[in-house]
Amino acid sequence: MTKKKLIAGNWKMNGSLAANDALVRAIAKGLGDAACQVAVCVPAPYLAQVQMLRAGCALELGAQDVSQHAEGAYTGEVSAAMLREFGVRFAIVGHSERRQYHGESDALVADKAKAALACGITPIVCVGETLAEREAGRTEEVVKRQLAAVIHANGHCISEIVVAYEPVWAIGTGRTATPDQAQQVHAVLRAQLKAATPHADRVHILYGGSMNAANAASLLACADIDGGLVGGASLKAADFLQIIAAAR
Ligand code: PEP
Repeated sequence: MTKKKLIAGNWKMNGSLAANDALVRAIAKGLGDAACQVAVCVPAPYLAQVQMLRAGCALELGAQDVSQHAEGAYTGEVSAAMLREFGVRFAIVGHSERRQYHGESDALVADKAKAALACGITPIVCVGETLAEREAGRTEEVVKRQLAAVIHANGHCISEIVVAYEPVWAIGTGRTATPDQAQQVHAVLRAQLKAATPHADRVHILYGGSMNAANAASLLACADIDGGLVGGASLKAADFLQIIAAAR
């Protein structure tokens, strides 16, 4: 049986009570019985609001980060158990913006994935190379190193994660990987997962990086692209709904 695709919006540090209200209502209205799974990963202060707004519709709730710690003296951190109390189903870990601006290492990202899984939250593990790494022919080495850390820390639970291939040079730049470029990397990631688990085909491998209404269908048609992690285009209901419609 083929799995349903997953389209996850990453709002990043955008939104307000009023804007979220309008956006989620418009998405919920347009969602109908979408052929794919749909989630929005919202800033932590808005989890409760979006949890209420999504009631009765198929929209899943996601967070944009999670602490590697279960509880304690970690000022500013939010634990997976706390997220779970707000109905959070997914948590992005290792987004390139966190790796870049917060110095998150492969080992830390792996621990965050582990903490999420321990509380029944599916980590969306982001991997991806910078432009300099791509130009140096290091794409495969970089994404494999990033995923290897998560596989190492999570053992047999690895089939429970979602992977998002997000080339750093394509995030928020309007520059998208071509379907061929993306599929090539997705195939590498799938092979790496296959070496780690007999259930690798169950794992969603999402593409992220300037996915929009115009390019979604061609990316989503690739054999190993099981959905999208969508930044900018998830902030406009019409664009996000068109991407969802492309995920059949
Ligand atoms: C992201 O931030 O995960 C992302 C893919 O952003 P954008 O779609 O805006 O490139």
